[in-house]
Parts: sequence; structure tokens; C-alpha cells
Amino acid sequence: MLNESLSKALNDQLNFELYSAHVYLAIAAYCSGESLDGFANFFMVQAEEEKFHAMKIYKYLNDRGKRVTMVGMDTPNNEYTSILDAYEHAFEHEQEVTRRIYHLSDLAMNDREHATIQFLKWFIDEQVEEESMFDSIINKLKRIDKDSNAFFMMDTEFSQRTFTPPAL
Ligand code: MG
Repeated sequence: MLNESLSKALNDQLNFELYSAHVYLAIAAYCSGESLDGFANFFMVQAEEEKFHAMKIYKYLNDRGKRVTMVGMDTPNNEYTSILDAYEHAFEHEQEVTRRIYHLSDLAMNDREHATIQFLKWFIDEQVEEESMFDSIINKLKRIDKDSNAFFMMDTEFSQRTFTPPAL
């Protein structure tokens, strides 16, 4: 049986994943405002992924007989000085997500809640991917000028990004 404090912590994370979607949609809107539709698409797809993460926890809590509750959200940052600034903000956000997932995993380990430890393993692996992706894009952005061909090629490349939801 999932105890109340671990169940509440998972519910908090479900809400934080939705907040992450909110953060990325705000960044997408900034990119759209700069007429960088490929970068905007990148962050819209990122927002879809975050909603999928939230639904994964939603299903898990339901499967464990727990009632999901929704909370209000903070206003995300809507203004950025550049695309690089937006990606750096996203990278910091992902590092915060990783800290939260690790904390959840610590709670599950303290409770010897093996099913939840196993469930969180997917999120731990996912965070390695997320951080690596943002780190690599930031490194590329730092090496190119913001009005260069390479920059617009990145915008075109990111217009191809799609999200195909895996099974929950
Ligand atoms: Mg996430």
C-alpha cells in the first residue's frame, strides 16, 4: 500500500510535470513571437512530452488506488532575451525536475516501496536524456551566431520534431 506522504509527493510531481508543459508552452510562444517556428515546434513537442509524463503518474496513482488532485499553477517566465537564454532556462528547469525525481526516489526507498522505486526508474532515465539534449543544444547555440545560416538550419531541423506517445 502506497502511504499518504509518498502518494502526495507523486501527486505534486504530476502537477509539476503539467507546470513544466506550461513553462515550455510559454517558451514556444516566445519563439513564435520571434518568427522562429521550428524552435517553437521544438518546445510545443516538449510540452506534449511533459503532459505525457503527468499522465504516466496519473495512471500510476489510479492503479495504486489513489485519488489524483489538481492544483493551481504559477505563472511561467514568458520573456527571454534570446533563444539561447530560453534553452538555458529550460535546462535549469530540467535540473530542478531531476532534483524532484531523485527526492521522490529517496522517499520511495525510505519506505521500501519497491513498485514505486521501479516506476520512478523510467523517470530517472528520462531525465538523463532530457538534460543531455538541452546541454547539447546549448553548446551548439553558443558556437553559432544568432543570425547565421547554421542558426536558421537549426530552426528548420526542429520544425521536424514530433511526439509519438509511447504506451502509458
Ligand atoms: Mg518531465
